[in-house]
Amino acid sequence: MGCCDTPGLMPVETALTKILDQVEPLKDVTSVSLSEGMGLVLAEDICSPINVPPFANSAMDGYALRSEDLANTDTLRMAGKSFAGIPYDGVCQPGECIRIMTGAQMPEGADTVIMQEETEVDGDNIRFTAKASHGDNVRPIGDDVHQGDVVVAKGNRITAREMPLLASLGIATLPVYRRPVVAFFSTGDELRPVGEPLEAGQIYDSNRYGIRALLEKFGCDVMDLGIIPDSPEKLREAFDKATTADVLVTSGGVSVGEADYTKDILDEQGEIGFWKIAMKPGKPFAFGTIKNTWFCGLPGNPVSAMVTLYQLVQPMLAKLSGHSQYQPPQRLKAKATTVFKKRPGRADYQRGIYQINSDGQVEVATTGNQGSGAFSSMHQANCFVVLEQDRGRVMPGEDVTIELFNHAMY
Ligand code: AMP
Ligand code: MG
Repeated sequence: MGCCDTPGLMPVETALTKILDQVEPLKDVTSVSLSEGMGLVLAEDICSPINVPPFANSAMDGYALRSEDLANTDTLRMAGKSFAGIPYDGVCQPGECIRIMTGAQMPEGADTVIMQEETEVDGDNIRFTAKASHGDNVRPIGDDVHQGDVVVAKGNRITAREMPLLASLGIATLPVYRRPVVAFFSTGDELRPVGEPLEAGQIYDSNRYGIRALLEKFGCDVMDLGIIPDSPEKLREAFDKATTADVLVTSGGVSVGEADYTKDILDEQGEIGFWKIAMKPGKPFAFGTIKNTWFCGLPGNPVSAMVTLYQLVQPMLAKLSGHSQYQPPQRLKAKATTVFKKRPGRADYQRGIYQINSDGQVEVATTGNQGSGAFSSMHQANCFVVLEQDRGRVMPGEDVTIELFNHAMY
């Protein structure tokens, strides 16, 4: 054990490895139309059935010609027109040029386009004021994609970056994995739903809103089971309902004091590990199975719930979804511009605001109060400041690791 390892606490990496070692991707493949594919994960490689572009075409409005013709003259006779969707049906002969628009098919015989700004038009005689090299302003056949190439590999999630590419290949349906179904509920007698007045000692249930928002961003189908009071019967009932889902995410009830109580019920229902993770916020975390449903028990404190969901459950859902091309959020080195309070013992996921300063250097400031219930720190932040387990207080000017929020937070 190193000098700063805390007995009984599980490093974040160990927890993540334990989770990912157990979870296997869902196998169910369905077919959806291209427009329904957003956010889904490809279950097969997509190979291009065609070349893109399918024919050589002009990148400019201008004149298509044979470049060798301009060796001896600067004027050619316009013999016809090629518009987008209405190609010239003849052959561009020596001494001729063809009026052509952007995206229009190159006429047979022509190999080069000179843009209209570099011409002087006198009836059908076109004088070219600029020289051109063979192939200028022509987009060759297959310039973007070759027929038969793997264009988007299995395990990629479909986003706005893939949609137009797939459409350009004429792909109308996609083989995809089904979305994981994730049930979730909040536990606690003190919780009230929004829209109702608070009575003494009560607070609003905020976790369900953060959990739903992230799960939807992770590409899951959600099943909101509401607020479950701290009652064994109600909890049993809720666990039972949740077993139709692939995953159950709960918040609250896994911290010391409550753990025994929830633990008894969970122990009779499934195989759950109650972990104390060396992370702050988010020490208590439960993981396992209830029948065939994965169980993730998040801590109740709102920031802890969000951070554990993001750091531990997100990669698990990526694996479950078949998202083998999943990239963990990007980490960068940044210079601290404020103090970051910390004690050695746990890895901190503090909330920070990074910016690029006028020298092009990445710097990061704290959002202030880092309490695990202080959700305004999440709202102000644009990154996590990941401070190593054995690290102490960080002073301005020190280097720290930041982790940029990924699409799930936006
Ligand atoms: P617990 O993990 O149940 O001991 O809860 C830890 C803290 O988080 C307590 O202050 C709870 O009131 C609070 N908490 C638990 N669940 C929620 C929730 N769904 N929304 C807001 N706060 C919660
Ligand atoms: Mg509770």
